[in-house]
Amino acid sequence: MTRQDDTAHVHPPLRSREPFRALAMSVERASTVVFDNLEAFQNRTERLYDGFSYGLYGTPTSRQLEDHIAALEGGSRALVVPSGMAAITLVTMATCKGGDRVLVPETLYAPARDMASRFLGPLGIDAVAYDPRLDADLAGLIDKRTRLVWVESPGSATFEVQDVPVIVAAAHEAGALVAADNTWASHLLFRPLDHGVDISMQALSKHVGGHGDLLMGSVAVRDDALFRRLKDTARFLGYGVSPEDCALCERG
Ligand SMILES: *Cc1c(COP(=O)(O)O)cnc(C)c1O
Repeated sequence: MTRQDDTAHVHPPLRSREPFRALAMSVERASTVVFDNLEAFQNRTERLYDGFSYGLYGTPTSRQLEDHIAALEGGSRALVVPSGMAAITLVTMATCKGGDRVLVPETLYAPARDMASRFLGPLGIDAVAYDPRLDADLAGLIDKRTRLVWVESPGSATFEVQDVPVIVAAAHEAGALVAADNTWASHLLFRPLDHGVDISMQALSKHVGGHGDLLMGSVAVRDDALFRRLKDTARFLGYGVSPEDCALCERG
């Protein structure tokens, strides 16, 4: 059957992808993706976490970078988001709600501290700054409302190294999660998930991007339910990443 000329404008002939495999990450761009049939389209939400349903929720390029970050951080799953700040806000929003308390070290990346005091407060989330040298004594600040404890080791600007396993034990004892901003050490020098931390976040804009020409952030976890919570929150916030930036990040 021959196609009408008009139809041919929007349907390029399909070509098999085999057997081309580039060593470098290939860039696949998409907002809309194509489904094999109506049923696959109607069931597209099943593909939110692993498959592909819409460019905003993941492309082969972003998923490949996520798998790589997960492996480097020693996690089972990772998520890439538009910036390091986006990752910090995402982790906090996915784990805390009005009435909860979040603890942040005084050495937390300054714009994130600003976010904690000026953005979380009006949402009813009580952000409490703590001395990064408290270590075991941090237990005294963790109350029943505390949902999340941030650590950053070494911490921004003054590089205090925290006793992360001791902080994790105190937080878990009280039922709180622990998130690490692992940008300074990066996965090369410290893997927070190996030390009981629940969420390891990095500003990929720094070491991983490597060339000062892209903005991206990552979160890595070992718990699938937590991954889904983070993924859902990223979806509700409308976080998407550019596949070109993912390939640049992989190159970095
Ligand atoms: C740069 C940085 C961030 C934020 O990353 P952006 O991608 O610039 O938003 C977060 N934490 C630390 C420790 C950083 O150095």
